[in-house]
Amino acid sequence: MRRVAVLGATGSIGASALDVIARHPDRFEATVLSANTRVDELAALCHRFKPRRAIIADPARLADLKAALSDLDCIAEAGPEALEAAAGDTETDTVLAAIVGAAGMRSTLAAARTGKRLLLANKESVVVAGALLMREVADNGAEILPIDSEHNAIFQCLPSPQAVADAHSGVERIVLTASGGPFRGWSRERLGVVTPEQACAHPNWDMGRKISVDSATLMNKGLEVIEAHWLFAARPEQIEVVVHPQSIVHSLVGYRDGSLLAQLGQPDMRTALAYGLGWPERIDAGVRALDMAALGSLDFEPPDRHAFPCLDLAYSALEQGGGAPTILNAANEVAVSAFLQRQLGFLSIPEVIAATLDAGLDGDSDSLEGLIALDAAARREAELQAARRH
Ligand code: NAD
Ligand code: MG
Repeated sequence: MRRVAVLGATGSIGASALDVIARHPDRFEATVLSANTRVDELAALCHRFKPRRAIIADPARLADLKAALSDLDCIAEAGPEALEAAAGDTETDTVLAAIVGAAGMRSTLAAARTGKRLLLANKESVVVAGALLMREVADNGAEILPIDSEHNAIFQCLPSPQAVADAHSGVERIVLTASGGPFRGWSRERLGVVTPEQACAHPNWDMGRKISVDSATLMNKGLEVIEAHWLFAARPEQIEVVVHPQSIVHSLVGYRDGSLLAQLGQPDMRTALAYGLGWPERIDAGVRALDMAALGSLDFEPPDRHAFPCLDLAYSALEQGGGAPTILNAANEVAVSAFLQRQLGFLSIPEVIAATLDAGLDGDSDSLEGLIALDAAARREAELQAARRH
């Protein structure tokens, strides 16, 4: 029996994971469920899945959570420390990191430090603390199963996770597919007036609001380039991006002999989650089979780097290294949140990020404390930059 902590249980990934878990009561037990502020939703999930522990990130909601769980044998806790402790304790062997943003970093690192199987959806924690995370994984025998659909596809197409760095493997490059988001093909002029509702209406995937905006700006792909660098030890020039509007080919790996291996599937995160939960076995995900003839055709085109400058901002942060990806991520989180609150225009998102990267912030990016300080400083700077453009 695999004992799974679902961190971010009330989110889009959390719901998909619990759907897969519910299909296999003989294999999986949800031992921990967590949410940010939504006590009612968390309590409803606890009544259904009967975890040993429920954690609400916001301490002000703990009394409500306790009251809502009073009829269950379930420990209610609150705060980031409780999340970190749950990710690291011995009640679980598998941690699904499905919190959105750098808020997931400490619990992701705790799972790696304690040698767990880490089902990694929370890409921001890899962008912020990639070096530290990969060190913890290697030092403590943890197992990363990438859940981001592109990285899950790459994992499936590689002979081993570290094959990109192995000259004998014949792997030359990674090709990440991008849907292009709801504004694919739009000019910069049209992008000037888009609303949060338009940005969150993704054509293929049903996701949380933050990642939906990231998909609309192409920053999601930028974050994924950095994620691929860390997960697969790929150099920036080995990572390419191609736009594929149907989101059927989830990514590809290119080999020296000209072969390009791809993983295809429905745009449904349950495939990647079932792969990570069941690995190395393949288990039922509740996802219907692809009908290639019904699809008819698949399209590919280069990304529009002019209309969507976030992609190149991410590449340059990766090239720069050090704390630059941490600053990029923090500025993006601030800018996206301001955009969602209608305090920042869509085209100002990359402006805020570029200005924050250029602000000359510096810090120790080798330690968790250093990264947390740099993340906080970048957020303060990005808030100033966003306020200037309000
Ligand atoms: P979501 O907004 O639907 O859910 C986020 C979850 O995190 C919720 O349970 C929320 O309660 C919790 N949360 C939010 N802020 C928190 C905080 N400060 N502290 C603790 N918990 C907090 O987001 P999502 O779409 O499920 O995405 C989750 C992560 O997975 C993101 O990093 C995203 O980039 C990644 N991801 C998502 C998808 C997808 O299809 N949704 C695909 C690939 C990767
Ligand atoms: Mg993805």
